[in-house]
Amino acid sequence: MNNYDFKMTKLGRDGYILYNEEERDIKIYWEASGVLKYNIIFSTLNLKKWSDTPGIEINIEKQLEILHRLRKWLKENKIKSNIEPPKKIIVTDQHCHWKNCKDNKIEGSAFCLKHFDFNLLVQ
Ligand SMILES: [Zn+2]
Repeated sequence: MNNYDFKMTKLGRDGYILYNEEERDIKIYWEASGVLKYNIIFSTLNLKKWSDTPGIEINIEKQLEILHRLRKWLKENKIKSNIEPPKKIIVTDQHCHWKNCKDNKIEGSAFCLKHFDFNLLVQ
């Protein structure tokens, strides 16, 4: 059994996905996509705070875990979005553009795979 779930709410052309984990939640806003490639699009994801503890910041590892759970849930529900990683990951011989990162970037992105994910999140 998962100790978390997602619920999607639609308010016309946009809405939010409520991520719930052990009585706490985060509202993740989305809007309908104008392109065929995606069903919905997210702007930069704000996974920094639980709604009941706005003064406390969620650490980056936890934010990434929620991002990966969200991707999995979207995939299971056949919802295409702009937060999917590239289908085929090819590491180039050029450096990742993230500050102080020593890894090489992946094809089609300015970042390595880890920073590709970081870049989807509000910093
Ligand atoms: Zn990097």
